Amino acid sequence: MEETNSHRYERKDSSPEILIIGAGLAGLTAASTLKKAGREVLIVEANDAVGGRVRTDIHEGFLLDRGFQILLTGYPELDRHLDLEALELNSFAPGANIFRNGKFEVISDPFRSLSSGLLTITSSAITIQDKLALLRLRYSLIRGTALVSQNEDKNILEHLETLGFSKKAINNFFVPLLGGIGLDPELQGSARLSLLILKMLFTGTAALPKNGMQAIPNQLAENLGRENILLNHSVEKINDTEVILESGEKIISPHVVIATESPVASQLLGEQESPSKPVSCVYFAAPHAPTKTTALLLDGQNSGPALNVAIITNIAPSYSSNNETLIASAIPGRYTPEALQSVTEQMRNWFGEQVDDWRHLRTYSIRHGQPDFRPKMPFRRSTQIGPTKWICGDHRDTPSIQGAMVSGRRTAESLIKSLKN
Ligand SMILES: Cc1cc2nc3c(=O)[nH]c(=O)nc-3n(C[C@H](O)[C@H](O)[C@H](O)COP(=O)(O)OP(=O)(O)OC[C@H]3O[C@@H](n4cnc5c(N)ncnc54)[C@H](O)[C@@H]3O)c2cc1C
Repeated sequence: MEETNSHRYERKDSSPEILIIGAGLAGLTAASTLKKAGREVLIVEANDAVGGRVRTDIHEGFLLDRGFQILLTGYPELDRHLDLEALELNSFAPGANIFRNGKFEVISDPFRSLSSGLLTITSSAITIQDKLALLRLRYSLIRGTALVSQNEDKNILEHLETLGFSKKAINNFFVPLLGGIGLDPELQGSARLSLLILKMLFTGTAALPKNGMQAIPNQLAENLGRENILLNHSVEKINDTEVILESGEKIISPHVVIATESPVASQLLGEQESPSKPVSCVYFAAPHAPTKTTALLLDGQNSGPALNVAIITNIAPSYSSNNETLIASAIPGRYTPEALQSVTEQMRNWFGEQVDDWRHLRTYSIRHGQPDFRPKMPFRRSTQIGPTKWICGDHRDTPSIQGAMVSGRRTAESLIKSLKN
């Protein structure tokens, strides 16, 4: 959602106490934490609205999140900063529907959805042993006993094999589910991180705010005060306490927080970029929903390129202002702006001829979806990178909404502590 620049920060002088570069979730959380502690902050944001990677476009009466995204309500950091009730969340059904052999099979969380849990027993997408292993894993994750330490960490594919899951369960269930959320269809990322995500799925729900994912950063920005945010101002260079904008304008601040995505942070710091994981998503409008389910639909037979699909308006009807259905087909781990034809063919394979009546809305392809999070990487990285420079973002914690917000808070807290000394 575009914002006008009418809420421009009126600087009292050109040297705010703390200057934050980037109004994504990390920058906004850092700013709110600093402001609550009585500090004066200014955020400079290159784009025309807050949110960073969490943006929602209004297009032909639909709300299109820039790339399919979900809020996991189990993220512990949310309650510290957000009024979740005001977001009017709509939840996906627990579990997932797996497309295999021409039909959908239900894998549900039997403790939370007893009726579809019974269906799980008859589902052939995974074996009986896998179902038992899944229940065991769920139980131990909730009790915290299945989480692995940084030293023991390995890639999630190996870890699932160690837990006894069959190739069938890995390919049919974990690749589209965890590969989808972690943008990692090869399952080469950290098991420690994937297990945390699974725990979030088991303890909370996956949800969409009534007004789109951008409602999350918008709420943070409202609480902070829009007068503290300068939109459409890109930072080109940092010389200690002097920040130079693309326009040539300079802002002097004794404390500079870099809250940009990792590739830009690396450029500003003159460091080598670390690898990114891309993601694409094709949005369609349809006259009718192809299924009534509010569960996530997973590709259980590698029919690709979309690994997970959501009938968004089944979950959140507010994403459409007319009676049309909104469908998101997500392609995690791939930058494929030209995916429309192959996704349309895949959807025809799943839903038949009705797909001929679907209308393509937009395709999003995002090169930097998330930082690559490899096994044994630390969950927490340092917050200060020089006497006057600080840093936060999902690349300093876990690559997620949770990680970005924790990172913003941690950096703000250590900055506050240093100011007191
Ligand atoms: C399609 C997609 C799906 C995702 N799905 C999920 C999901 O389901 N669940 C989940 O938890 N996470 C998901 N993520 C990850 C999550 O969105 C990010 O981890 C999180 O939003 C990162 O926030 P951030 O503040 O660290 O960075 P960003 O959101 O990237 O914010 C950085 C900000 O800095 C600004 N900036 C950059 N350069 C400059 C400059 N030179 N001057 C001024 N400002 C600048 C940018 O414009 C941006 O606003 C997804 C990401 C994508 C892209």
